[in-house]
Amino acid sequence: MKWHFFSPRLRCRYRHVFALLLIFPTLAFAFPESNPVPGGIVLLALNKNQIVQSARYKNKKLAIIYKNDTPYVLLGLSLGSKLGQHTLTLTNTEGREEKIAFNVGAKTYKSQHLRIKNKRKVNPYKKDMKRILSEKKRKSKAKKHWRKGAVQADFIVPLEGRISSIFGLRRFFNEQPRRPHSGLDIAAPQGTPIKAMEAGTVIEAGNFFFSGNMVYLDHGQGIISLYAHMHTIKVQTGDKILKGQVLGTVGETGRVTGPHLHLAVIANQTLVDPLLFLPQLSLKAEEYFKNN
Ligand SMILES: [Zn+2]
Repeated sequence: MKWHFFSPRLRCRYRHVFALLLIFPTLAFAFPESNPVPGGIVLLALNKNQIVQSARYKNKKLAIIYKNDTPYVLLGLSLGSKLGQHTLTLTNTEGREEKIAFNVGAKTYKSQHLRIKNKRKVNPYKKDMKRILSEKKRKSKAKKHWRKGAVQADFIVPLEGRISSIFGLRRFFNEQPRRPHSGLDIAAPQGTPIKAMEAGTVIEAGNFFFSGNMVYLDHGQGIISLYAHMHTIKVQTGDKILKGQVLGTVGETGRVTGPHLHLAVIANQTLVDPLLFLPQLSLKAEEYFKNN
């Protein structure tokens, strides 16, 4: 496909469909919040008359979600995103492309030091590596899952509990540096039911070396939620799940310091801050920031 966007003629043709970046205040209902920082998300409001066939960023397809009939492109930014100007590409039904620029701002993530009693979960044995590698493949396959059709992204909070850790913290296990925290931790007693944040389909479920018992739920167009360290799993791969349906219970399986739910959200194959999908937790998040 030819690259048309920068020709003045097309610029003119697209003048009426230029999209606008909107920053949302915290609202009572759970429409995701735009926060264009590493680990955050960008929500780009499209003109209602703008018929977009697909949206892409770094060659990955993006979800288009709706609020009050207005379509929004939802783009996840990895923790490693560079600051400054980025571009996404919209393609209309005739195959014409339009580039939209947006800016990624800075965000500082704190460090967290954790002591893990089971040293094998920090420094796995040689024989564990085969399992870890095969699980990595399953995880990456689940992350890349794409289902066409409407997206469900009006998330509910999956359980009552205290926020015990937030997304993006630079982590040290037994003083050894590891990958940053890829989700939101909610501490609750073992056995507490965990509800599906939205309707979806189970695309992966099982026991993983680091994540323990874990379920991946697909909500459409690359929006995926995952639930880790569960005590029990009550669903199977392929199950169609209703919003609020119990997926399993809180546990302390895998690499943990105690019973909690590790909740993660994926958009365009990228792990992003789950709090941006759960504005209902803003008070609990404030409480966390006060104490940490
Ligand atoms: Zn976690």
